[in-house]
Amino acid sequence: CGRRGRATAILKELKEKSETPTWKLKQVADAMCVEMHAGLASEGASKLKMLLSYVHSLPTGDEEGLFYALDLGGTNFRVLRVQLGGKSAGIVNQEFAEVSIPSHLMVGTSDALFDYIAAELGKFVAQENQDSQANPGRQRVLGFTFSFPVMQTSIASGNLIKWTKGFSIDETVGKDVVAELTKAIQREGLDMRVTALVNDTVGTLAGGRYTNKDVIAAIILGTGTNAAYVERAQAIPKWHGPLPDSGEMVINMEWGNFRSSHLPLTEYDYALDSESLNPGEQIFEKIISGMYLGEIIRRVLCKMAEEACLFGDNVPQKLKVPFVLRTPDMSAMHHDSSADLNVVGSKLKNIFEISDTSLEVRKMVVEVCKIVATRGARLAAAGILGILKKLGKDTISDGGEDQKNVIAMDGGLYEHYTEYRKCLENTLKELVGEDVSKNTIIEHSNDGSGIGAALLAASHSQHL
Ligand code: ADP
Ligand code: MG
Repeated sequence: CGRRGRATAILKELKEKSETPTWKLKQVADAMCVEMHAGLASEGASKLKMLLSYVHSLPTGDEEGLFYALDLGGTNFRVLRVQLGGKSAGIVNQEFAEVSIPSHLMVGTSDALFDYIAAELGKFVAQENQDSQANPGRQRVLGFTFSFPVMQTSIASGNLIKWTKGFSIDETVGKDVVAELTKAIQREGLDMRVTALVNDTVGTLAGGRYTNKDVIAAIILGTGTNAAYVERAQAIPKWHGPLPDSGEMVINMEWGNFRSSHLPLTEYDYALDSESLNPGEQIFEKIISGMYLGEIIRRVLCKMAEEACLFGDNVPQKLKVPFVLRTPDMSAMHHDSSADLNVVGSKLKNIFEISDTSLEVRKMVVEVCKIVATRGARLAAAGILGILKKLGKDTISDGGEDQKNVIAMDGGLYEHYTEYRKCLENTLKELVGEDVSKNTIIEHSNDGSGIGAALLAASHSQHL
């Protein structure tokens, strides 16, 4: 064993199969745009569900009072309390708590999961201090950010289409998640009403719009990935309800499920997909989001160990364990700027129990991280171009020279993986060209989804 040439060949092949030249990204963007049209035309016509959010007016700044939000979407869930000042006074006060979800609850029963959430919510509500209690005796109002595909039936109800991101509880599928949460809230003895059910992308859009009126879309790059944007109601053939006064509707694309023959997929992606909890689904998500990037790296390294003895004569056992390499560890290796790549060395040791790696091997590991992160970031940028195209904002229209297009972006991957973020931003510039790029702004919206959900809960509590 010890065929260094074989390792180089594996790396070379990975690089070639992962390539994302500009022309290819434009094909991906065009395909995204085509699928958007199809998904808006009729239910089930596209991989892109293009879900109606029932949000047709975004926050104005006049919202006032004390509101709660609950964000369930990944490995953690967050509860949030915001005091809104009204009349453009903004957010007077906000507090939050974050709780991790025990992994057995992600694949257990519906009641167990929602009871756990309601119990944690109860603890948080109990910490409410007396003077922040704006409406004593009144029922508390909650916005529920639920970051899984839901077929909404109104602003405050919707049925789960499927779980993603490692959750798998069959009995919840098809059920109204607000009813499930409400029942658990009642079992917990809490006096609280859910007045808005929003996807995290929709929440981020609402939260972004509260501070910047030029926000047109929101993207999440975290454990999973998704996008939402503001569409003209008349451009949604599958919407048969009354035209909203605003003439607009926020669409939750569920872009994680995008798939196209133009996507550069490798043998590692096919294997990851077929061994996943949801084979054949969420292909875009599986090549660009935080849950999977580290796992792709592990698979490449595993092949290099098996076929080229990259880490010695035996394949380290830990290298065979799915998902042991997390994306934060991948990004730490990718960002290692030390001359001897000692971060890479210690990650390989701590995670895979591989000691005494040579600088040459460490460099190869960094190269693998770079290839996979670059592909993900560039494809995410192509997705954004697809949305801009759908809205006719990928070129500058007459008189529209000053129109800013702001994209609210959130998620741990975007926030913490600097190389990924830089690559995404540079690629978007490359794709739209200099002129459009000046008016196309990506704005980091720090936990905008929680605040957005609270804002939507606030504006929809008045109508009940
Ligand atoms: P979620 O998507 O679960 O709601 P976040 O938006 O906080 O939560 O994103 C968390 C995800 O972000 C993690 O699962 C991980 O994939 C990714 N992430 C967090 N920190 C880092 C990091 N330092 N480098 C790269 N990715 C990170
Ligand atoms: Mg989230």
